[in-house]
Amino acid sequence: MTDKPITWQRDADELPLRKLAPAMRRGMKGRCPSCGEGKLFRSYLKTVDACAHCGEEIHHHRADDAPPYFTIAIVAHIVVPLLLIVERGWAPDLWIHSAIFLPMTILLCLLFLPPVKGALIGLQWAYYMHGFDPRSGGAEDWDGVGFVSWTPPR
Ligand SMILES: [Zn+2]
Repeated sequence: MTDKPITWQRDADELPLRKLAPAMRRGMKGRCPSCGEGKLFRSYLKTVDACAHCGEEIHHHRADDAPPYFTIAIVAHIVVPLLLIVERGWAPDLWIHSAIFLPMTILLCLLFLPPVKGALIGLQWAYYMHGFDPRSGGAEDWDGVGFVSWTPPR
């Protein structure tokens, strides 16, 4: 058995570290994850192609279904306990529940969706995912090692 400790070293050609929390925070605020100045969205959920301030390309993010997934998880953890508290405390009619919690759920989802999407784009930027990796040449289906390819089974 060898006494030599196993140590981990960064490769010299490795990409510089990007801090995750500031990138996600900037994205959550609807700002470019790189500089925090330029706008991230040109409309409600449509991202800009590139940051107007620093030029960082944003178009190749792959947030896909993750923002709705996390938004549903967050909103459910707010609405369901409130619904149960109201039911246990006052047991109102079903139409009163519907009048309170359906609009609340829709409103909270609409409020949370852009910041959650921005945070996930910040995460992808910080981890050089997809086209944010300069070695990808801008390709969106790059996993940091090679191009992701998948062929459907026959
Ligand atoms: Zn920027």
